Amino acid sequence: MRLENKTAIITGGASGIGRESSLLFALEGAQIVVVDVNDQGGNETVNLVREAGGEAIYFHSDVSRADDCEAMITAAETKFGKLDILFNNAGVMLSEDGDAQETEEEIWDATLNINAKGVFLGCKYGIPALRRAGGGTIINTASFVAILGAATAQVAYTASKGAVLSMTRELAIIHARENIRVNALCPGPLKTEMLMSFLDTEEKKQRRLCHIPMGRFGQASEMARAALFLASEDSSYLTGSTFAVDGGITAAYVTPE
Ligand code: NAD
Repeated sequence: MRLENKTAIITGGASGIGRESSLLFALEGAQIVVVDVNDQGGNETVNLVREAGGEAIYFHSDVSRADDCEAMITAAETKFGKLDILFNNAGVMLSEDGDAQETEEEIWDATLNINAKGVFLGCKYGIPALRRAGGGTIINTASFVAILGAATAQVAYTASKGAVLSMTRELAIIHARENIRVNALCPGPLKTEMLMSFLDTEEKKQRRLCHIPMGRFGQASEMARAALFLASEDSSYLTGSTFAVDGGITAAYVTPE
């Protein structure tokens, strides 16, 4: 088992990447603190982990709030004694997000507060806990849109993921000699609720699919396997990376027909 006796916080654990990662990390021996604002989904994830023989608790925390983030770290240390893995994965893609002219300030603020400030706050309170444990790993979920621009306008989301990617690099350098590794997982377009509700017509889906060399959307379970690699000693010499798991989209200039 690759995460035996490790404690992991996984934000956004109620669905998608966070749920799949909770299940996989638990199978690999980790104790999981499933964090979300969706209490029903979060508790469902915990039940799924327990049914599979793993150990998990649910903790309600809005990652855009400092007191909530501090409390989730305390919950992990209180329940499991330490924190080894912090997976800052919660995020939103709001349907009102568009180009610079049409995107309202409230949409910008809400997106940046959850996607970018949420990662900062997780690290702000999580890094001292990782130090107390003698080191650990942080995985921040960015996106392929932190690397590539698209004509499908979502400026707030794209800017938030750029912030996650650059913040990850800097934190990785700052903490490199403290046995704390920090990497950015950059998923490609996934077949999860988040993207499918944004690409809500077949035409919009095809417009995105035609750019993916593999010709299909990724699965949340494929991101979980990548996150496991980043969380475990398998990636012991990797920090500050832009870890793109994207069906080849960021490598492509022209994709096959
Ligand atoms: P998802 O919508 O299934 O999961 C996101 C989770 O975050 C949800 O459970 C939601 O309730 C939770 N959340 C939202 N706001 C929160 C808050 N303030 N505090 C705590 N939890 C909150 O989507 P997903 O695809 O699993 O997304 C996970 C991450 O992957 C996100 O950061 C997303 O931006 C990123 N991502 C997704 C795709 C994609 O195509 N789906 C591509 C690249 C990156």
